Amino acid sequence: MINVLSNCHTHTNYCDGISSPREMIQKAIDKGFVSLGFSVHSPLPYENDYAIAETRLPIYLDEIAKLKAEYEDKIEILSGIELDADTEIDLAPFDYVISSVHQLQGENTGRIYAVDNTPEELVELINTEFDGDPLSMAQRFYEVSEKAALRDGVHIVGHFDLISKFNDTLHIFDDRDPHYLGFARNAIFNILRQKPGMMFEVNTGAMYRNGKMNPYPSAQMLSVIFNNGGRVILSSDAHNAHSLDFAFDDAINECKKAGFTCVWRLRKGGIEKINF
Ligand SMILES: [Zn+2]
Ligand SMILES: [Zn+2]
Repeated sequence: MINVLSNCHTHTNYCDGISSPREMIQKAIDKGFVSLGFSVHSPLPYENDYAIAETRLPIYLDEIAKLKAEYEDKIEILSGIELDADTEIDLAPFDYVISSVHQLQGENTGRIYAVDNTPEELVELINTEFDGDPLSMAQRFYEVSEKAALRDGVHIVGHFDLISKFNDTLHIFDDRDPHYLGFARNAIFNILRQKPGMMFEVNTGAMYRNGKMNPYPSAQMLSVIFNNGGRVILSSDAHNAHSLDFAFDDAINECKKAGFTCVWRLRKGGIEKINF
């Protein structure tokens, strides 16, 4: 099995991660990584407990820049951002941008619901804002995801089917249901038509933190990404230094099953192809 020795999606104690950037880097060097990308949760215009405050962004960028220089002969460090759909900031200071949708705003109440916080919150979103119809919610989620991914400056689509986080136990969505898959397929198709070769991450974060069986996106969606010319990059959405390459073998197997013969990894100044 190939070892990609890189992770594009990691969080530190600048947002909701546990480890410091330096601890993450030291662990990555121990593992023989060639590159490591930091992707702090972008500032949000509403109360939350996971994103960096806008005033702290310069401090984050400054520390990553210093570490980048300090470790330059051991590992390539990139300063990225996980850009929420509801964030509007200048992206110029970042080496790369992951577009992620973590919440939806209800049209009935105006309330903001996280889709990945608890099963109860997800069910409440569906019941309160979508008349109990999970498919309507999925349709909105993939529409918002498409729009977010098509923003200028986005390089990677993050955890594309995050709404499936609790699906192993809740069974809210059926990945083989043509209606459900159709919403996702439309979004993938539109993203890749307007941004050919766009990268989607294969994200094992919920496998580590929630015991999810498979990475995001699902096998069916990975096939759609492959068939439409998309590219894939591995991540563990690590919130601590110990999970930097968690279940990457499983992620590679999923990529192979979908038809991919390579994945990509971050490098200083660009990306690099790793053939299987
Ligand atoms: Zn995320
Ligand atoms: Zn993340």
